[in-house]
Amino acid sequence: SINESMKAQKTLAIIKPDGLLGNYTDDIKRTILEYGFSIVKEKIVQLDEAGVKIFYAEHSSKSFFSSLVKYMTSGPVLVMVLEKDDAIADWRALMGPTDASKAKITHPHSIRAKCGLDTQNNCVHGSDSINSAQREISFFFKELSADIITEHDEL
Ligand code: ADP
Ligand code: MG
Repeated sequence: SINESMKAQKTLAIIKPDGLLGNYTDDIKRTILEYGFSIVKEKIVQLDEAGVKIFYAEHSSKSFFSSLVKYMTSGPVLVMVLEKDDAIADWRALMGPTDASKAKITHPHSIRAKCGLDTQNNCVHGSDSINSAQREISFFFKELSADIITEHDEL
C-alpha cells in the first residue's frame, strides 16, 4: 500500500583471516549478492590485539579468548557492511553454525560448511543482534554509526 515503508537493515560481516587466505572471498561475495544483500561498504583491515580485544569483549573471560585473538590477528580480514531486509538474521543463517565441522553435516550449503574448519576457524563473522550490529559497524566505519536502519518509501 502507498504509505507503507520498507526497512533495510544493516549488519557487519567479516571474512576472517582463514577465509581470505583460502581464497574464498570471491565465492563468498557472489553468494552474498545472490541472496539479495548489497555490499554498502568494504575494506581490508589488519587487526591488532587491542582491536580484537575490544571487538570480541563479550568473550574476554572465555578459555578460548587468547587463541581467538591470535587467530583474528594472524592476517588481514575483509570487513563489509551488508544491507537488506532482515540482514542480521539472514546473514547469520547464510553463514551457518559457529562450529564449521558440525556445519558440514547439519548445514552443508552454509558458508562455514564450505570454507571453515572447526569451532574457531570458521572463516566468517556476522553480528548477532541490532545492538551488536550498531556497535560493530561503528567500530569499523565511524561514518555509519548513526543508524543501521534505512527507511525507504514504497513507490
Ligand atoms: P559466532 O561467530 O557464531 O557468533 P561466538 O560469538 O560464540 O560465535 O564466538 C566468536 C568466535 O570465537 C567464533 O566465531 C569462533 O571463531 C571463536 N570461538 C567460539 N567458540 C569457540 C571455542 N569453543 N573454541 C575456540 N574458538 C571459539
Ligand atoms: Mg558472536
